[in-house]
Amino acid sequence: MSLKDKVVVIMGASSGIGAATANLLASKGAKLSIAARRLDRLEEIKNQNPDAKIKTFKADVTKAEEVEKVIADTVAEYGRVDVLFNNAGIMPVNNLDQLAHDEWQNMLDINVKGVLNGIAATLPVMKKQKSGHIITTSSVLGYEVLPGYAAYSGTKYAVRAIMEGLRQEERTSNIKTTIIAPGSVRTELFNSINNKEVREGLESAMKQPGSKMMALQPEEIAQAVAFAIDTPANMAVNEMVIRPTGQE
Ligand code: NDP
Repeated sequence: MSLKDKVVVIMGASSGIGAATANLLASKGAKLSIAARRLDRLEEIKNQNPDAKIKTFKADVTKAEEVEKVIADTVAEYGRVDVLFNNAGIMPVNNLDQLAHDEWQNMLDINVKGVLNGIAATLPVMKKQKSGHIITTSSVLGYEVLPGYAAYSGTKYAVRAIMEGLRQEERTSNIKTTIIAPGSVRTELFNSINNKEVREGLESAMKQPGSKMMALQPEEIAQAVAFAIDTPANMAVNEMVIRPTGQE
């Protein structure tokens, strides 16, 4: 099966990488369930792709029951789940000495627990089908640590570990795993940075001449996701690290 008619669930599809992936897969004929907290943004994606099969879900990945409903309704509508794309995430940058307990909790809940909730809701369905593919967005910061990003990096290392464990546990169940690890991508992710000085510094860096070499477009990461999905049954793309050419 190619991308056409593949049933793909995207958690965190309302903007950035998730939205770009939804648009690309819709254009290739995939059947989509797209989820996030901002339902209006999901409806816009659906309206922009009038010929595609798209179901929208207002769902918060930190709430296991809402994620379970997305998967259950997808199975009811399309009969199966071929791909789960665990993409929801936030990145509230701050040094550890800011003692940002609420940010740490939110990040752990969304970036880590959200991924586990997605796996928990989908794995029984895929094991029953005897096929499936779980894709999770980690980051270049799931491989390296920078000052200000320690807690975020911790969540992205964690999801890499979880996905590698999933690969080892399920490789004989015909379930593929892919870790997508982008470098800098121009999205709305900076909106989750509460520290105004840090946020404005990063936004201004993105506007500098030459910044095209320093940040990718979400549509470019979507191409990588589509590539990982559109592989033969015996071939799993387990990890993709995708940096803008000029990034350190
Ligand atoms: P965006 O902010 O544009 O997208 C984040 C997505 O996550 C939105 O759809 C948002 O939807 C969703 N989301 C956040 N919290 C929740 C929640 N509790 N429940 C459901 N959905 C949620 O940023 P990106 O596209 O950049 O981010 C996508 C992923 O890529 C993230 O995991 C991020 O960490 C990762 N990444 C991004 C990089 C970059 O440079 N941009 C680099 C490396 C990794 P809503 O708010 O509507 O719920």
